[in-house]
Amino acid sequence: MKQRNDRRQFLKSSVILGGASAVGVLTPPSHAQTWLNQGVQKYRTLGRTNLKVSDISFGSSRLRSGEEDLVQHAIDLGINYFDTAESYTSGQSETVIGRAIKGQRTQLYLVSKTIIRATTSADTMMRDLEGSLRRLQTDYIDVYMNHAVNNIEVVSNPEWQIFNDKAKAQGKIRFTGVSGHAGNLINCLDYVLDHDLVDVMLVAYNFGQDPKFYEGLTRGFDRIATQPDLPRIITKAKAKNVGIVAMKTLMGARLNDMRSYENSGATFAQAAFSWVLSNANVDSLVISMTSKQQIDEYLGASGSTHVSVNARSLLDQYALLNGANYCKHACNLCEGSCPYGVPISDVLRTRMYATDYQDVDFARSEYALLETNANACLNCSGEPCQNACPNGLTISELCAPTHRMLA
Ligand code: SF4
Ligand code: SF4
Repeated sequence: MKQRNDRRQFLKSSVILGGASAVGVLTPPSHAQTWLNQGVQKYRTLGRTNLKVSDISFGSSRLRSGEEDLVQHAIDLGINYFDTAESYTSGQSETVIGRAIKGQRTQLYLVSKTIIRATTSADTMMRDLEGSLRRLQTDYIDVYMNHAVNNIEVVSNPEWQIFNDKAKAQGKIRFTGVSGHAGNLINCLDYVLDHDLVDVMLVAYNFGQDPKFYEGLTRGFDRIATQPDLPRIITKAKAKNVGIVAMKTLMGARLNDMRSYENSGATFAQAAFSWVLSNANVDSLVISMTSKQQIDEYLGASGSTHVSVNARSLLDQYALLNGANYCKHACNLCEGSCPYGVPISDVLRTRMYATDYQDVDFARSEYALLETNANACLNCSGEPCQNACPNGLTISELCAPTHRMLA
């Protein structure tokens, strides 16, 4: 890693590229936005792992071949925690990180993940881990996660513990983790915490899911549901000294919807991150970084411990614009409404990747991982799920087009 004093003091001026555009080709703010980027400002202790990790960390779900320079840019700015998974960009994400960090491995922390089913054997998990080690060109992974859990039978699969013990004994993984953002996440997290199965949790957590956000709100948000269990789970994990990393921190990431409101010195993304980091129980957040410019912008929120008045106003505005049509995936209040077993919140999460993140390839790869998809919606009247979403989403009008787009 380059010395911190080599890092440039980054004064960013706006470049007017005009118009709203996809997040994937994110434009800078369309006004005279400036912020001083000094790289990572704070490292927090990741629970019982005792790793000191950057408070804003590198998510690589969309990292593709040829983007090694992005990883190096993040390292140059002090990011030391890199989150990947075997399924991200069909293994390219791990491969790119492996190439980029050569010679710097010992100064960095790597997280990877594998999809585990209720019947997956420890041997299969070990084979998957070895594939990740090869792609990452390393002989150990700092935190290895059970990816996207949504089923108690998965986290209670005894083979997972056999695998964890063996991989740790062989020095191939240091710590165990779990990640999730789907409907039964809360139940799964309660289970792993009650059975003391993990050292780190990676959970979807943003201002739009936290009841605290709506306290004292003066404008009407009549169709926004909160997830009262999420803060409880985070507090419970903290009490057990389990490291907590937040993801999906942008509540749908419609960043360009917000550019015209960003006239207070902070961007919407920085405001959203300050909300997450103001929860002292959160150790870090990971966010997909797809350009150097984005990394610079995101790190503008590093070191945040509170939400400023201006940041709060941006978050209010975002909720006003997007709250009523944002699926709060883990709320799952629509669960059981579909007689065909369509996992509505999962389907709508993959839809978010395509429509909000503008990353159809990633959306397709995540959609392909669903055990049941929304095929049934194509020939359904939509009546059973008609009033199932208290947040006002018309599920049938969202799920059928999602299947057409991603299947
Ligand atoms: S569709 Fe509605 S009820 Fe179902 S998970 Fe999304 S926000 Fe919750
Ligand atoms: S439209 Fe029909 S098949 Fe699709 S989620 Fe609703 S009830 Fe299920």
